[in-house]
Amino acid sequence: MKKPIIGISGSLLRDEDGDFAGYERSYVNNDYITSVVSAGGIPYIIPLIEDEDIILAHAELIDGLIMSGGHDVNPLLYGEEPCKELGEILPKRDAFDIFLIKAVMNLKKPILGICRGEQILNVANGGTLYQDLKFSKNCYIKHNQKRLPNFATHTVMIEEKSKLYDILGESSLVNSFHHLAIKDVAKDFKVVAYSKDGIIEAIEKEGNVFVVGVQWHPEMLSKNYPNMLKIFEKLILEAKKILLNN
Ligand code: MN
Repeated sequence: MKKPIIGISGSLLRDEDGDFAGYERSYVNNDYITSVVSAGGIPYIIPLIEDEDIILAHAELIDGLIMSGGHDVNPLLYGEEPCKELGEILPKRDAFDIFLIKAVMNLKKPILGICRGEQILNVANGGTLYQDLKFSKNCYIKHNQKRLPNFATHTVMIEEKSKLYDILGESSLVNSFHHLAIKDVAKDFKVVAYSKDGIIEAIEKEGNVFVVGVQWHPEMLSKNYPNMLKIFEKLILEAKKILLNN
């Protein structure tokens, strides 16, 4: 059977110095690519662009979508002024991500949001974020583990009767590279995983379409942690259903 095409939302990288200082490159981290390949999909990088017709064409072309990690989300998008703790934002990436998410959700294709991808999935659907974990009063776990991206450092507890539970069971170890987190979950979405200090670690859309966001980075773990590869295998299984119907 043909392999499904898995779109991966791209970002921009700017050279800090050297011969091409200030020059922009279109990119995704390579672990997204290797994870999709290992799970049986065709990775397809969707470049960050502003042309909505082209974004729509990309949404039509793919069978499933991964929203990648990266920049902080602009808090104006959920009605807050930026606080001092906010990190680097890229407003044109927010606009691209939100348009892409809405286009792919309209087409009822599966989506996996990762880290920033989970946060922007929530904001695109009307949810809000903590601009920094210090605003979540019970947070005591180190959610920015620094280094060792392919090593899992904290536990997440997974809600029964969820798509994520069917993949991972009642708990999992995960890595953690975030200082933002979901505050209010979007309408028609539910929280499906928490860390032990109550931080929201995963959400999913109610209903049959696979639209799941995780706060950690399974693509960095998928080589050493078989359960993390399973998340990509599930996305690809869902994308195969789209492929069969087209
Ligand atoms: Mn975490």
